[in-house]
Amino acid sequence: MPSAASDTTAGKAAFNDDDRDDCLPRHPFDDDKLKEECGVFGAIGLTDASNFVALGLHALQHRGQEAGGIVCHHPEHGFNSARRFGYIRDNFTSQSVMETLPGPVAIGHVRYSTAGSKGAAQIRDVQPFFGEFSMGGAAIAHNGNITNAEALRRELIERGSIFQSSSDSECIIHLMARSLQRGIPERMEDALRRVEGAFSVVAMTGTQLIGVRDPLGVRPLVLGKVADGWVLSSETCALDIIGAELIREIEPGEMVVITEKGIESRRPFRPQSPRFCIFEHVYFSRPDSILGGRSVYETRRQIGVELAREAPVDADLVCPVPDSGTPAAIGFAHESGIPYGMGIIRNQYMGRTFIEPTEQIRNMGVRLKLNVNRALIQGKRVILVDDSVVRGTTSRKIKEMILDAGAAEVHFRIASPPTAWPCFYGVDTPQREKLLAATMSEDEMRDHLAVDSLKFISLDGLYRAVGEAEGRNNSCPQYCDACFSGEYPVAPSDMIEKGFELKAAE
Ligand code: SF4
Repeated sequence: MPSAASDTTAGKAAFNDDDRDDCLPRHPFDDDKLKEECGVFGAIGLTDASNFVALGLHALQHRGQEAGGIVCHHPEHGFNSARRFGYIRDNFTSQSVMETLPGPVAIGHVRYSTAGSKGAAQIRDVQPFFGEFSMGGAAIAHNGNITNAEALRRELIERGSIFQSSSDSECIIHLMARSLQRGIPERMEDALRRVEGAFSVVAMTGTQLIGVRDPLGVRPLVLGKVADGWVLSSETCALDIIGAELIREIEPGEMVVITEKGIESRRPFRPQSPRFCIFEHVYFSRPDSILGGRSVYETRRQIGVELAREAPVDADLVCPVPDSGTPAAIGFAHESGIPYGMGIIRNQYMGRTFIEPTEQIRNMGVRLKLNVNRALIQGKRVILVDDSVVRGTTSRKIKEMILDAGAAEVHFRIASPPTAWPCFYGVDTPQREKLLAATMSEDEMRDHLAVDSLKFISLDGLYRAVGEAEGRNNSCPQYCDACFSGEYPVAPSDMIEKGFELKAAE
């Protein structure tokens, strides 16, 4: 436990490390961004539900490009699964693969490893995970991060559990195995009550599709309807691709159990004030998704408006750092009246070509991915709008490119507050000391980046942009903003045990 559902694809065992298909672009540019977490998708009541899941995962690919997996169930053939490294489009589009994944219930996962093996990933860490219980099989896929996973793993191993992966999510299956409840949803409730941190889970049995959000609702999960079936997805953009209608968000602390009889809503946890991840609005979610009833694109545009009000500057041109800085740059230009232009062009076709770049190519760094529109930039005072500054290495290189192209001045405006604390809820952040804002003030960062000015949106400005007219409620914040404020809504107990120091009370 857990065992893999029989992995029929290409006749390979599900946990065969030889499966590795290292098609991931590893590039210096990617090292200076927070990495998206994972994406989950599930479907029930649809002919060959796996096809819908594959399309949904394709739309969620921005949440994890390292690997993907699908588990399905067919009344005659039982459970089947396929797990692969690389993109969904490269692994789950061929007829030969998809016809091995039949049945009306399926769930899937796209992965960027926020826990478990990183870099040299192993196929055994690729979700969904599967467990065989006395009442039948169940598979789960998890987006988020369990902050007490190491303590749970130690306890479970001491009590006889044999782990097969290094993923925190496997704890859920082992906790379910130890529960004395009679049904799978009830065992999941038992298991998830022991788990701390952030989790949006999709799970399935042969006849049920289950969705759960943690009590704070840190990670998103939505419910959609298509034809006679139901789907669960990390984001609404994945509903659009299959023509599904958005019904509603799964509420923080809610479990839904979907069968052919309909949807049952349960409340397995003690109610708490929600703390959705505010960075989903800034960067992680796709701009064509809807979060909390708000268009992500519109929120990002509004962040630019707030930024222009908070940190105006005399300049000739507003340029986004593509792609995630684009809506905020549009908002900044609109509010400031300064012309908007595509001063930086992104190469859309970075991909496998430079998987293992030579030293010479590696030194080209950001230029492989971004190029300056010299004709537009020359002689201008340029405002660059970016979503965040993590280590600052990319910001420095972009500034150099803009100056090399003949810009008269470079001003950075950042659509998030300074990222000064690591995330422990499913986002890969560098260690605290590697975050530029952890060790430098705004003015020191400006000098370090050697730009004419640098301003970040304030935390209150960000809250206003996401629809909180009065800004942040400091006594009871409406969102998780720990990577900016250092106020963690769930104590990261594993990390504290390893010596991580929380912010001192003010
Ligand atoms: S710490 Fe930051 S990235 Fe992590 S969940 Fe909270 S707001 Fe989101």
